[in-house]
Amino acid sequence: MKAAVVREFGEALQVEEIPAPVPAPDEVLVQVEACGVCHSDLHLADGDWPQLAKIIKKPLILGHEVIGRVMDRGSAVTRPEPGERVGVPWIHWTCGKCELCREGCENLCLAQMITGATVDGGYAEFIKAKASHVVQVPESLDSIEAAPLFCAGVTVYRAIKNAGIRPGQRVAVFGIGGLGHLAVQIAAQRGARVIAIDIAPEKLDLALSLGAEKAFDASADDVRKEFRALGGAHFALVTSAAKVAYESAFTSLRRGGTLVVVGVPAEPLSIPVIAMVGAETRILSSSVGTREDLRETLEWAAAGKIRCRVEARPLDQINQIFDTMRRGTIFGRVVLKM
Ligand code: NAD
Ligand code: ZN
Ligand code: ZN
Repeated sequence: MKAAVVREFGEALQVEEIPAPVPAPDEVLVQVEACGVCHSDLHLADGDWPQLAKIIKKPLILGHEVIGRVMDRGSAVTRPEPGERVGVPWIHWTCGKCELCREGCENLCLAQMITGATVDGGYAEFIKAKASHVVQVPESLDSIEAAPLFCAGVTVYRAIKNAGIRPGQRVAVFGIGGLGHLAVQIAAQRGARVIAIDIAPEKLDLALSLGAEKAFDASADDVRKEFRALGGAHFALVTSAAKVAYESAFTSLRRGGTLVVVGVPAEPLSIPVIAMVGAETRILSSSVGTREDLRETLEWAAAGKIRCRVEARPLDQINQIFDTMRRGTIFGRVVLKM
């Protein structure tokens, strides 16, 4: 099969012919139709997260926003059926037995396997996945448009759900990329007054068209002053990996506001504790989502409440796509079409 393989972190991906995977007894073989290109893939390929180096597979096939059809099943698999269309998310497998799994926090399971990180992902014609952890895709959703829901969508869906945002509250979304453009829609659907911040004017226009009430250009506007004039944000959700975005998000908050941590810079954040304590600022971080969160996200999409803005591209172009992502000029999500 054709696959884009990371042989060395920090180097270009190699598009090559390799043997297709063979499913184990508890696995299915999926013929990939679509795989979203998440910024986490680029962080992994560039070796941005040395903290994870020990657990990352090498050589590695990236990709964790995967949709395709079940072509083959291991001997122990009864569901899904052959031919069924399923998605393979970032959370590849969890133990189901530990305290966190039993409490419904499988996204925090210490034994978890991660698609396109600790096991091979979907930048390929075929992927094998655990039958227990693939999720059925509603008929009405197109594979290319739905693929980003398996990471970008579920991540911001869970973050916003757990933040407990109430109608009428001001929600700042920093970074209007793959995750951010979906966060704007979800927060607006929940009745929040959404303020979008990015450094690219065309992404601010996109956010306004998706339900944001206001939009600020972090490279031109005085974001802190703009938020002061609005009374500050109740929530600032950061979906950018830029440290400056976090610094700006912190200053955008109203007293008692919540910084929602989603974007993943490699270096630590420094938050002024005096200002934080004085304002009783809360910090909430969020890690992708459970299968339950994912099913809810897919329901929202099937009901037409959220829609990914996608551009389909062939697998061969992955290195050019990564270059565009490094420059920050991708609009919505690029999805590889196999
Ligand atoms: P993306 O590249 O599509 O979007 C990032 C956006 O941030 C771009 O629109 C860019 O213009 C914008 N940006 C850059 N600098 C900015 C600044 N100073 N202020 C405001 N905006 C700025 O990336 P993505 O795929 O949406 O992923 C975003 C981040 O979320 C990545 O770090 C990724 O690893 C992380 N992520 C986290 C989780 C999680 O579970 N917490 C899940 C998926 C992705
Ligand atoms: Zn992702
Ligand atoms: Zn577990």
